[in-house]
Amino acid sequence: MSQPHPYLSLHLPPNTPFELKPSLGNGWGAFATRPIPLGALILREAPLFVIPKHHTEITETDTQAAVQQLPLHEKQQFLHLRYNGGHPFTRLTHACAENSFALPNANGPTYYGVFVLLSRLNHSCVPNSNIPDTDVESGKIACFATRDIAVGEEITFCYNDDFACRTRQERHRALRFTCVCSACQASASEQQLSDLRRRLMRGLHYLTHGEDTVIEPGPVAVEPIIADVRLRKAAENFNTPLSARFVHTLLIMHLLEEEGLMDYFMVARMGPGIEQTASLFETESNARIARLAMAQETWLGKLGVAARLYDRKDANDAMVTAGLRMLHGLPEMR
Ligand SMILES: [Zn+2]
Repeated sequence: MSQPHPYLSLHLPPNTPFELKPSLGNGWGAFATRPIPLGALILREAPLFVIPKHHTEITETDTQAAVQQLPLHEKQQFLHLRYNGGHPFTRLTHACAENSFALPNANGPTYYGVFVLLSRLNHSCVPNSNIPDTDVESGKIACFATRDIAVGEEITFCYNDDFACRTRQERHRALRFTCVCSACQASASEQQLSDLRRRLMRGLHYLTHGEDTVIEPGPVAVEPIIADVRLRKAAENFNTPLSARFVHTLLIMHLLEEEGLMDYFMVARMGPGIEQTASLFETESNARIARLAMAQETWLGKLGVAARLYDRKDANDAMVTAGLRMLHGLPEMR
C-alpha cells in the first residue's frame, strides 16, 4: 500500500479554513473547507526559522544548522516539504528558497523566513487572497481573503507585487513556469485586452511616479515603457501637472477593477494618495471638479468627472513638483 502524502502530515492549526490536496497542474494546493468571506483572516503563521542573511548568500551549512536547532516536531514539518508537492528536495537551500517569504525589516536588509503552510498556496495572476507585508506582527505573516471564497475553491495569492503591470508573457518569464490561472487561460482576444490594460497601467505608473514599476532582474535591455522622451523626462523630473496625476491614478484604479485586481488592500494602499492628490488643487474651478469626482461612488464615475480636468494647469503645479523633487532628494528646478 502506498504511503499517505507527506503534506497530509503537516500540522494545520485548529480552525484553519482550508485543507491541502492535489491541485490540477499545480502540484498541491490549499482548498477552502468552509466559506471564507471577503477580508477574513485565512491564516497567520510564524516562520519555522529565519536565517539572517540575504537569500542569495544562504548556504547549505546555514540551513542545516537552522534545521538542527528545531524541536523534533518542527524538524519533521520541514522534512515533509516536497518539490512542487512531488519529490523530496535534494538540497536544503532549495527547500528554503521554495518555501520562504521576505520579511520586511525597517532596520536593515530583507531576511527570508521559512513558512511551511502559507508556502502551500499556489500563485494566480487574479488571486482571491493577499499576504500584505503591512501585517508583519512579531515576524508573522498573514493571509486575508480579497473576495468571498466558496467551499472547495483553491486559495491563491499573487507571487509578485508588480504583476498587475506585466503582460502574460512577462509574468511567465518572471515566474519561470507557465501559469494556468483564469487570466492566463483566457481567450486570445481577452488576453490581448488584458495585456493592453496591464501595459497601460505600467505606463501610467511611470508618468505618475517617474519610475518603472517592473524591475527585470539582471542586465536585461528593457525598452522604456514611455517612448516619448519629452513625456518621460517630465515624469522623471516630477513635472507632470497635478491634473494629469489625478486622472492617471484614477484610470489605474479603473483598469485594476477591469482586470479583477481591485480589492480592499489595493484601495487601502492607493486610496489615501488619491484623496491627497484631489485635495492639492488650488485653482478653484479645478478643486471643484476634483471634489465632485471624489464624491462619485465608483472608480469609473470618479474618472468620468476627473477627465474634465485633463490638460488643465493648476496654480499649485509648481509647488507640487517642488515638493515631490524635495521628497526624492532632487535639486530645485530652474
Ligand atoms: Zn496567471
